[in-house]
Amino acid sequence: MLEVRNLSVDYSGIKAVDKVSIDVGPGAITALIGSNGAGKTSLLGAISGLIAPSTGTITFNGVDLTATSPAGIVAAGVVQVPEGRELFPRMTIQENLLLGAHLRTDKRAISRDMDRAYELFPVLARKRTLKARQLSGGEQQMLAFARAMMSDPKLYILDEPSIGLAPLIEEHLMRSIVQICKETGAGVLLVEQNAMLALEISTNAYVMELGSITLSGPSSGLLNNPAVAAAYLGQ
Ligand code: ATP
Repeated sequence: MLEVRNLSVDYSGIKAVDKVSIDVGPGAITALIGSNGAGKTSLLGAISGLIAPSTGTITFNGVDLTATSPAGIVAAGVVQVPEGRELFPRMTIQENLLLGAHLRTDKRAISRDMDRAYELFPVLARKRTLKARQLSGGEQQMLAFARAMMSDPKLYILDEPSIGLAPLIEEHLMRSIVQICKETGAGVLLVEQNAMLALEISTNAYVMELGSITLSGPSSGLLNNPAVAAAYLGQ
């Protein structure tokens, strides 16, 4: 579905991403793990069209994303949930969710997806008339993901969705992401600090260090890889 080939991102001479190639398939989670500064956010930014790559190609279902505007990338079905969430703080939960669906016209499908979002995250349903800024950090993360669901994407790009969440909320959010992937066939590219969790819920994974992919393969294999365990799983 998503094919990134030999992608590089430079910031005035500093190579943040160096000839990276990754694939993300439908209906499953692909994890990207790595230490702070490894280049993960820069790679996601290039895929979403927010950062111009210096070389390489990004193809999504045959469409060249490097030649597509950020709005065109969203219209193609790629939605990024950024680290820090970027909700509309003065709007209600319901309004934030509806904004997620602004490119869609099928009212019945929008209403069905809203019901599904509220079913997955009942706390959002209970608080639907509150403003986003009145939510806790965990609830805001849920809202950010639910808003992405409302665009009915084919590919979710998630940048550290579990950051700062209490373990139970983190697990609920991650289980919901797995569920939505299965239900809708959407793919997920997940950047996650919690490498253990990321490897547990993903099918395939990539390890990124100093701008390059240093390891990749089925997540179960990486979970049992001594080098991954030592560097990322605290073992
Ligand atoms: P984190 O988990 O801390 O977000 P990351 O793996 O996402 O880290 P990036 O944020 O992509 O890594 O950063 C990769 C490298 O590029 C780092 O060395 C960072 O300092 C540098 N960098 C990131 N953004 C910029 C920028 N706008 N200008 C210059 N250098 C940058």
